[in-house]
Amino acid sequence: MPALTKRHRDKFAKQVLTWFDEHGRKHLPWQQNPTPYRVWVSEIMLQQTQVATAIPYFKRFMQRFPNLEALATAPIDDVLAHWSGLGYYARARNLHRSAVRVLDEHNGVLPNTLDALQDLPGIGRSTAGAILSLSGGQHQAILDGNVKRVLARYFAVDGWPGKKPVLDELWDYSEQVTPATHTGPFNQAMMDLGASICSRTKPQCSLCPLAKQCQANLTSAQLNYPGKKPKKVIPVKRTCMLVLRNTQNHVLLVQRPPTGIWGGLWSLPELGEVELAQWLNAACLNAVSEATSIAQFRHTFSHYHLDIDAQELSVKAGASNLVLETDRYVWYNGEQLPGGVAAPISKILDLLAF
Ligand code: SF4
Repeated sequence: MPALTKRHRDKFAKQVLTWFDEHGRKHLPWQQNPTPYRVWVSEIMLQQTQVATAIPYFKRFMQRFPNLEALATAPIDDVLAHWSGLGYYARARNLHRSAVRVLDEHNGVLPNTLDALQDLPGIGRSTAGAILSLSGGQHQAILDGNVKRVLARYFAVDGWPGKKPVLDELWDYSEQVTPATHTGPFNQAMMDLGASICSRTKPQCSLCPLAKQCQANLTSAQLNYPGKKPKKVIPVKRTCMLVLRNTQNHVLLVQRPPTGIWGGLWSLPELGEVELAQWLNAACLNAVSEATSIAQFRHTFSHYHLDIDAQELSVKAGASNLVLETDRYVWYNGEQLPGGVAAPISKILDLLAF
């Protein structure tokens, strides 16, 4: 990774800090009396929540849990109640677990090293850096989503930051540009810049203090950075589902085995590897009409696409119909379903007239 000249690093920091003096946010509740505890709670709240939403939650949280001991000794249900509406409740559980540990292991004082902070549940490297720099002015870099975006654009860092080499490169740049003095305001400024000016879809480069050296701006390639998460290629499977009508116009449903896809739900018979004639023969059913395709659509599971072709035909029972005389099969009359059905089956049944 290229080492930046001191001149470049200093210039970067100066431009960001000057912008912060004029435009940065300095009156947020967690910026007043920024103790490690208050900064920590705010950083966790802000992980998946916008500033404007977090403010009233932060105020209520601080009223009820004004310090780490109050949080550590509170019942978890009380903590969750004060988180209610913010979502991602693992954050609140981790806050509480960490507070309990800090009370036990560090006499109730949040540790002041990166390693010890990162050892606590829910605190990653960037959050630890933010706590130490914003509350105590320690020289620590940060790399939250907003900072990643600014740096990826400024330095034209290719690739998705979820990949370790890309992330390492961004961390390296963050460490290089973070000044040893005024670290707290610098980190706050970088987060503000990312949130307000260097936004994901509409960066306002004409207002940005970094515009003249920003590689993405100079090449009009802002939206190429940071690189997108590669789309997972998932396999496509195909199935033919049978809509078999008996002489009373009822449709045959089959209950799926208790485990596997749609376990225990009611479904339509599927041809699988066998031909239609073979399947009907095995089920002791005789076709009395041609099979007609009535629906073709794709249903996507997390790990594969299922292309479904629903074929309808009329049948009548053969001389013996032993296969169907089990409680795994029912002839459905369009009224009360025998149990739950998966969404794609419901979609096909909704197309049918009874
Ligand atoms: S110049 Fe534009 S793309 Fe570059 S950091 Fe600033 S806002 Fe982002």
